Amino acid sequence: MTLPALPQFVTWQQALREAVRSLDELLHYVQLTAEQLDCLPDPAFPLRVPHAYVARMQVGNPHDPLLRQVLPLRQEQQVVAGFVSDPVGDGAAQKIPGLLHKYQGRVLLMSTGSCAIHCRYCFRRHYPYAQAQLHECEDKIAYIQAHPEIWEVILSGGDPLLLSDERLRDWVQALSAIQHVQSLRLHTRLPVVLPQRITTELLQALSSTRLRLVLVIHANHAQEIDAEVMQAVQALRGAGMMLLNQAVLLRGVNDSAAALVALHRRLGQAGVLPYYLHLLDKVAGAAHFAVTHAEAQALMRTLRESLPGYLVPKLVREVAGMPYKQPID
Ligand SMILES: *Cc1c(COP(=O)(O)O)cnc(C)c1O
Ligand code: SF4
Repeated sequence: MTLPALPQFVTWQQALREAVRSLDELLHYVQLTAEQLDCLPDPAFPLRVPHAYVARMQVGNPHDPLLRQVLPLRQEQQVVAGFVSDPVGDGAAQKIPGLLHKYQGRVLLMSTGSCAIHCRYCFRRHYPYAQAQLHECEDKIAYIQAHPEIWEVILSGGDPLLLSDERLRDWVQALSAIQHVQSLRLHTRLPVVLPQRITTELLQALSSTRLRLVLVIHANHAQEIDAEVMQAVQALRGAGMMLLNQAVLLRGVNDSAAALVALHRRLGQAGVLPYYLHLLDKVAGAAHFAVTHAEAQALMRTLRESLPGYLVPKLVREVAGMPYKQPID
C-alpha cells in the first residue's frame, strides 16, 4: 500500500494556512472512513490540524491517540448533564475583555482567539473570542499598571505564539516597562503541533527582555514528541526559557499508566518538567473524554512508583470560584 504523501512547508505561516481543515482530507491521510470512526463535520468547532501533527498519527489505527484529540465524533452532539459551555467560570474572572484576573499575583491574557489545532476537549471551545477584541492591548496594559500586586503575566489564547514576531515583541516590551512585572509566562501548544513556529526571529523577539520567561507547552502523549519537536524545545531552552508541560487526562488518549509514564519519560528526555495533569474541564461536547477521580488517583499512584519525583505531574482540577487549581491526591 502506498501511503498518502504529506506536503512540506517552507514557513510556519504557510504550514498554518495549509493545515488540514476537512474531515475527508484527514480521513484520507489516516486511511480510515467516517463510518469506522463515527464522526461528522462540526461547523460550530471545525476541524483543524497541522500536517506536522497528522504525520505523527499511525495510519489505519482508529484508536490513534493523536487522531482521537482532533476527531469530531458524532457523540459530541449529545447533551450530557453537568457538561456546560463555561465550566471554569472564566466569565466571572474577566475584568476587562480578554483579561482574566482569578489568582493572586497573576493575570491571564487572551492575546488571540486562534489556535493551530482544534482540540476536541478544549474548555474554551465555546468561548466568544470574536467579541473579546483581543487585539487591543492598551486596556490590558493599563489594568496591569494599576495593579502593583501582579508580578506574573500569562499570555494565553487561543495560542499566543500565533501572534506575529512583531506583535510579540510589542507585548514583551510593554510588559518589561512595567516595574512590578517580573515574569512572563506563555501557554502554547505550538512547539508540539507546529514546531516550525520556533524560529530564530521568534527567540529574539521573546528574549530581548529583563523578564523571566516561562513556557508551558501542552503535550498529552509521547507520540506527539518527535525529533522536530525535540529540536524546537531545545532551541527554546537554549534561549534561556524555563520549560514546563501541562497535559489533560483524556479517556482513549492517555488514560493508562503506560501512556503517562512514556509521556513523562519523553518530556524528561526533552528537558521539559511536568507541571499540571488536568482532570478534564466539563465542557459541553467533551464528555466522552472524562476519566473518573478514582481512576485518575490510581494512575497517579502508578506514576509515583514508576518515575523520579521530578517527572511526576500534579493532578489538578479547576473549580469555578476557588483561589487556585485544586490538587487531587
Ligand atoms: C490556570 C490559570 C492561571 C495560572 O494558574 P497557575 O496555577 O499559576 O498555573 C492564571 N489565571 C487563570 C485564569 C487560569 O485559568
Ligand atoms: S491548543 Fe489549547 S486553547 Fe487551542 S484548542 Fe487546543 S487546548 Fe484549546
